Amino acid sequence: MATICVPLRVHRPEELIGAIDVAARNGNLVEVRADYLSEPEAALPVVRDLPDELQCRVILTMRTPEQGGQLPHSEDVRRAFWSRASQLPNVLFDVELDLLQKQSELSFDLDRVICSHHDFTRVPEDVVEIYQRMAATQARIMKIAVQANDATDCLSIFKLLGRAHDDNRELIAIAMGHRGLMTRVLGPSRGSILTYGSLDDESPTAPGQITATDLRNLFRIDSIDSATQITGLIGNPVSHSLSPHIHNAAFAAAGLNAVFVPIEVDEAVAFLRTMVRPDSREIDWSLSGLSVTAPHKSTVISELNWIDAAAREIGAVNTIVVDGDELHGHNTDAVGFIKPLKQRHEPLADLRCAVVGAGGAARAAIWALKQGGADVTVFARDKTKAEFLSKTFGVKYQQLLPRSFAGYDLLVNATPLGTRGNRENESAVTAEQLRGVRLAYDLVYNPSETRFLRAAHAAGCETIGGLEMLIAQAVAQFKLWTGKQPNVDVMRAAATRQLRIE
Ligand code: NAP
Repeated sequence: MATICVPLRVHRPEELIGAIDVAARNGNLVEVRADYLSEPEAALPVVRDLPDELQCRVILTMRTPEQGGQLPHSEDVRRAFWSRASQLPNVLFDVELDLLQKQSELSFDLDRVICSHHDFTRVPEDVVEIYQRMAATQARIMKIAVQANDATDCLSIFKLLGRAHDDNRELIAIAMGHRGLMTRVLGPSRGSILTYGSLDDESPTAPGQITATDLRNLFRIDSIDSATQITGLIGNPVSHSLSPHIHNAAFAAAGLNAVFVPIEVDEAVAFLRTMVRPDSREIDWSLSGLSVTAPHKSTVISELNWIDAAAREIGAVNTIVVDGDELHGHNTDAVGFIKPLKQRHEPLADLRCAVVGAGGAARAAIWALKQGGADVTVFARDKTKAEFLSKTFGVKYQQLLPRSFAGYDLLVNATPLGTRGNRENESAVTAEQLRGVRLAYDLVYNPSETRFLRAAHAAGCETIGGLEMLIAQAVAQFKLWTGKQPNVDVMRAAATRQLRIE
């Protein structure tokens, strides 16, 4: 079982008791952040009067602004707070390294102290020396939380956890920020004595902190151990991806000891070399494979030992499998794209197809359609890009201009227009232009009902939404990583549930 500590950001002392009660039901420990109160000492009688079993589960913290504190309390207030707080029985105290180093007038029970250090800007070069200084304080527990500016910064955290294990010391180690997410999810299985999870999306106390509910229900942190097969998504951005919901639900339904973690990566080659490639990685972990999204689908190819024909011809890898000492690349976008289409129209050889867009998804769609013998024309706003794809795949091309697509059996939207956010009200083609098209296929999956699909319905077209492709390509990934067939209904339900929440 992983230990989850739920930190509280409560501004009024009278709200503390209720908040501690709720937090204690969400996590194993509750962190009372006295620096959120205008009078920090007001937290002390509340904590003192808690029933014993709750007191044992409280960490009392009073951060300075430099260490992430909320209100700018003076050094005198901080010292006065700790001089009284340190007398409380049962409670754990989170005390910053600087104060512990000069704590002569404060008498902490060091067996109940977490000596902490935070850096909200980077992983400091002297992070190991900081660890050593903490160890020298004789505090029973140490905590290091540093900002990850790249996913590879997580390596420092995992290495520190390895060091603490060798030293037989208790350490909480976290890389903050989106790029540090994997340390929050995998940290406990690598020796971190706890991880922090917020009460809800609105109340994280540190950058990148996710909810205790997501740690338990989405990532199933309680069942992650050193044998857990790790998979994940690399790309940027990845925070709104549905893949963690789809794959983690499928792993759970299949009873597999496996987890899928979103990993925001800027430098894909550096990430693969230091954390993925078996011949050069600096971390020992049970990594089974990765899903790859924009902008890394082509960049990763140079780091792979082998790629399949689809990936090679499309020029993009969206799935990496760790196979012994080798990395293998696949493209499941093509098979994911074609599956829902074949369920409606087989064979493809008689289809006249228009693909709108000339990016990565268009390449996969064109390749798959060509494999099926379809007659394909690519339409792009940039004529030279359309011409380039035409030459690459041996298809026709035209510049995307306002025109009727009547006579086409299939029109594929492979542009991001219509995606949730500031492009939600856009569509690459109008209902008028779609009139006379038999089947309209939108690769955009969020929202599930896009403006393009509404236009297609209005024009009387049969439609396919992007979620079908997303699920079909995820099924292929799951099989590549596990050798097993996932429960497709579970995957679809997880994606649909998340789409409704967003
Ligand atoms: P991409 O590589 O960035 O390509 C996007 C294409 O859309 C480019 O050709 C771009 O043209 C074109 N485009 C952008 N804005 C346009 C506009 N206003 N008018 C006309 N064309 C425009 O992206 P991608 O990876 O191919 O992805 C495209 C979409 O497919 C995304 O929404 C993605 O989420 C979706 N997708 C879905 C799945 C799935 O499983 N359902 C899988 C992969 C991708 P320029 O080159 O001129 O900018």
